[in-house]
Amino acid sequence: MTFASLGLIDPLLRTLDALDYRTPTPVQKEAIPAVLKGRDLLAAAQTGTGKTAGFALPLLQKLTLQGPKVASNSVRALVLTPTRELAEQVQQSVQRYGENLPLRSYAVYGGVSINPQMMALRKGIDLLVATPGRLLDLYRQNAVRFEQLQVLVLDEADRMLDLGFARELDELFAALPKKRQTLLFSATFSDAIRQLAGELLRDPLNIEVAPRNTAAKSVKQWLIPVDKKRKSELFLHLLAEQRWGQVLVFAKTRKGVDQLVEEVQAAGFAADSIHGDKPQPSRLRALERFKAGEVQILVATDVAARGLDIHDLPQVVNLDLPIVAEDYVHRIGRTGRAGATGEAISLVCADEVDQLAAIENLIGQVLPRRDEPDFIPDHRVPQTALGGLVLKKPKKPKQPKAAPAGKGKIHLGNWFDASEKPDAKPIRKAPSFGGKPTRKKP
Ligand code: AMP
Repeated sequence: MTFASLGLIDPLLRTLDALDYRTPTPVQKEAIPAVLKGRDLLAAAQTGTGKTAGFALPLLQKLTLQGPKVASNSVRALVLTPTRELAEQVQQSVQRYGENLPLRSYAVYGGVSINPQMMALRKGIDLLVATPGRLLDLYRQNAVRFEQLQVLVLDEADRMLDLGFARELDELFAALPKKRQTLLFSATFSDAIRQLAGELLRDPLNIEVAPRNTAAKSVKQWLIPVDKKRKSELFLHLLAEQRWGQVLVFAKTRKGVDQLVEEVQAAGFAADSIHGDKPQPSRLRALERFKAGEVQILVATDVAARGLDIHDLPQVVNLDLPIVAEDYVHRIGRTGRAGATGEAISLVCADEVDQLAAIENLIGQVLPRRDEPDFIPDHRVPQTALGGLVLKKPKKPKQPKAAPAGKGKIHLGNWFDASEKPDAKPIRKAPSFGGKPTRKKP
């Protein structure tokens, strides 16, 4: 099958030719004709599947062939993304795909000055890529209007909800014209996403290009049990011993990211980081340097887990397991793409066994364990099994006299099962949109 047979116009075909895109990917085969016909889409597609071109190509074509010229401060198509990095990346793709078309595209996101964005919007933008928070700011300041909006794309909708954007999204949806085409892309499908899809989409075409919530088969995954305090030491040991090339490392906290970067640099490796405390330009610069191969180790919080298009990355290391199990799938989605094989290695300590069980349940697979001889943990990581089971919990110290009947669980906004982990931190599980765990924006 060719791009021409999907009904794309000449200027786009010329661009695709120049980019050496020879055949449409599965998501493109389904999405392009449907979007051209004006259908709503509900697409289960991860990064790496070619989903960006799947919506951008037909959108650019429609904007070129249909509808009035864009008015001042107006937008004709809107792509919402969860992170600044993804917004920037989508915008770059849109610009590349649309280079032979007379359209204006632009990206707006937080963390940078709003004034240039207001200036750019004055002329009107055919296709605007935006993160929800900044777009709402611009809308409230009358810098952007939606009367001309024909198409809304939600890219990585699950991530937007995970990051706590539900309220911003609701406010934005209320401001958009009801008569429009809507495309929803999500890597995972929680009840919250289904509810959102039910509210926003009309008779959508369902596209599923990778089995839901499964990690790419081409990625070899395993875990190494280790004591929490020896994780970075183990990482440095593996880095040297296994002669790894480029590695994308995920850590739980910004502090953890900075610490590992320091240690890796001290050991003589080129390392950089991406996390929410860094200003946007330096986040983008770190990513560019990593992509260009100038940096060997990129350490990130989950803000970088999705949407980043990094080619042929052989190695992903989870220094910490993610709190939200779905993030595991996104993290390791950075590797083993386009037929290449990759490795995803998780350094797991005893405290993380519940997260491990949740991840294994989600991916339907118990991760194989490989002990690293000099790093056998003092605190054993309990064995897990599918069904979210943790088989042998370590012996717990005897509890003082049991709480009065009915007080076994403590509810203080956060919850935890007091009988399970007496001294563990509460697992954040605030009832939010559809009951998913909410997190601070990274
Ligand atoms: P995405 O899933 O949209 O992030 O795209 C993943 C990568 O695949 C990007 O680097 C695209 O440039 C590339 N790509 C998308 N579609 C095609 C295609 N049909 N042929 C070759 N490469 C593609």
